[in-house]
Amino acid sequence: MATTSCDVAIVGAGLGGCFLALLLGRRGHRVVVIEQGPAIPSAGADFLKPPGLRVLARHGLTGLVERQGLKRDTIRYYHDGEPIQDCRFPGGFLIRPYRELVELIYTCCAMEGVDFWFDTAIDDLTQDEGRIEELKLSDGRRLRAGVVIGADGTRSAIRQALGIDQVTSLYDRLLMRVATVPLTAGMAQLNRLYFSSEGWLAYLYPLNRDQGRVFVGLPPEDDKEIFEDGMPVLIDMLKRFVTDSSDAFDVLQPASWHQIKISSLRVSAYHRGNAALLGSAAFACHPMTGMGMSYTLHDAEILADVITAAAGDGDLLDRLLQARYEPRRQVHRQLIDYGDALAATFTDRHAYLRAFRPDLHVFGTSAAESPEIPRMRARVRVPVPQLI
Ligand SMILES: Cc1cc2nc3c(=O)[nH]c(=O)nc-3n(C[C@H](O)[C@H](O)[C@H](O)COP(=O)(O)OP(=O)(O)OC[C@H]3O[C@@H](n4cnc5c(N)ncnc54)[C@H](O)[C@@H]3O)c2cc1C
Repeated sequence: MATTSCDVAIVGAGLGGCFLALLLGRRGHRVVVIEQGPAIPSAGADFLKPPGLRVLARHGLTGLVERQGLKRDTIRYYHDGEPIQDCRFPGGFLIRPYRELVELIYTCCAMEGVDFWFDTAIDDLTQDEGRIEELKLSDGRRLRAGVVIGADGTRSAIRQALGIDQVTSLYDRLLMRVATVPLTAGMAQLNRLYFSSEGWLAYLYPLNRDQGRVFVGLPPEDDKEIFEDGMPVLIDMLKRFVTDSSDAFDVLQPASWHQIKISSLRVSAYHRGNAALLGSAAFACHPMTGMGMSYTLHDAEILADVITAAAGDGDLLDRLLQARYEPRRQVHRQLIDYGDALAATFTDRHAYLRAFRPDLHVFGTSAAESPEIPRMRARVRVPVPQLI
């Protein structure tokens, strides 16, 4: 089979891969995206916080993504049934199922001439003096690219091929279950996140006008007991700490619950020669931070600038990646540490509130880097519990 040449090969058609492909396509690069699945991925995150929305706004995509999404501005946190804080998001955050969000960006890519090759993955690749020369694909095709981006998720084949070390840590004290259910009035009113001192959590929010999403986190030993024994046990456990969302109990009963295992990921480098890692191939943090997509979008922006500035010069690309992209590892490490702190403290309300950082949680950047942020602390307030 003939070999195809392009400027940039992106492995993985998730949010990171599609957004980078769009930015590069708009700047006239010839881009090929390789995706192992038959289409863009369907499972993923629901929330895009203000930093991610700002990235999309810089590229004229806000109107498009917000058109059918839900805009919210508050999450109310509870501990053992009592409200402990309201976290407000100036300008709001967007709720939009991952597939819909990525699909919009994918559709924009088509207008920029980006090629998507579905149902194919990397079988092998050839390297020369630290540069990836050619990708051999499982369908027999071959691809030569000036730059290769591994946007291929937590088990990245590109990361492995580059020999970049990784440390994956499973959050093994908390197993997550998720269900899509009919929307209730409580979910429509407010996003509510409940924690319990027994090691449980429950997060309820609207997905659209008809449906809501419910995440339940629980110790693995309880999961076996609860989900094997059935729903009445689950509802009994939730009743112990879920207070202002009791209208959801009826819709949870018939729901179908999917299990999700959650890990953090840290890697030893973000680039080697003409290849770089993006999104979940480079880092993963606890979803309690809600920032993975926002950081990934910003990283894609940096990569697009670096690749464009290098203009096909391999040495310059290497230097620019080192100077402008590698420092993101430090920023991501801070977010991963923050996610670890939230996951370690949520059973203890005082420890959780001490660990909670509005700068990272709302703005996605530390107060030290952004002087206007400390003033926002005042907006995270503890609501007065309602007396019934
Ligand atoms: C439970 C959970 C909830 C989350 N909630 C939020 C949230 O609310 N807000 C937020 O901002 N972030 C959230 N995140 C993080 C967010 O999902 C990630 O930051 C985001 O999905 C990263 O996108 P990506 O493009 O890097 O990876 P992915 O979406 O994982 O895409 C990787 C793609 O690469 C493809 N691929 C893999 N291997 C190969 C191969 N060898 N060849 C070809 N293709 C390949 C896969 O099929 C997939 O399509 C959450 C994460 C989890 C686990």
